[in-house]
Amino acid sequence: MSNDQVVYENDFSAFGYREIDELITLLNAWKSSDIVINPLKVGFNTHSGCVFLFDDDYNTYMMNGNDLEQWYNCSYCGNEGFIDDIIKDKLSEDENKNELDWNKPHICNECGRDILTGDFPDDSDDEEEDN
Ligand SMILES: [Zn+2]
Repeated sequence: MSNDQVVYENDFSAFGYREIDELITLLNAWKSSDIVINPLKVGFNTHSGCVFLFDDDYNTYMMNGNDLEQWYNCSYCGNEGFIDDIIKDKLSEDENKNELDWNKPHICNECGRDILTGDFPDDSDDEEEDN
């Protein structure tokens, strides 16, 4: 083997046929998306049975129906899921589910904090109370 040759290897022996099929689905969805996952890594949680793609920052992607989507965790309470499942107000059509706008709050439907920052939303311009 010459010195400039690099062999990448992975061990998929823990994967059953279902997991291999899921991985093929994930990679095909990623290929036809504009999602950047670098380095592109493959994960299989033997406890949950979930197969996913992720990078070194643990940005994690799974199939949500027919779409490859990022899997989020609330930084405060650990509520996790696809973005529209864990925030109070669904994203608008023009928002990228895989690249959230940090300037906008994304309020956790479990703890009421911003899932990205863990902060409570700034309610200074909303003095209304429902008493
Ligand atoms: Zn939360």
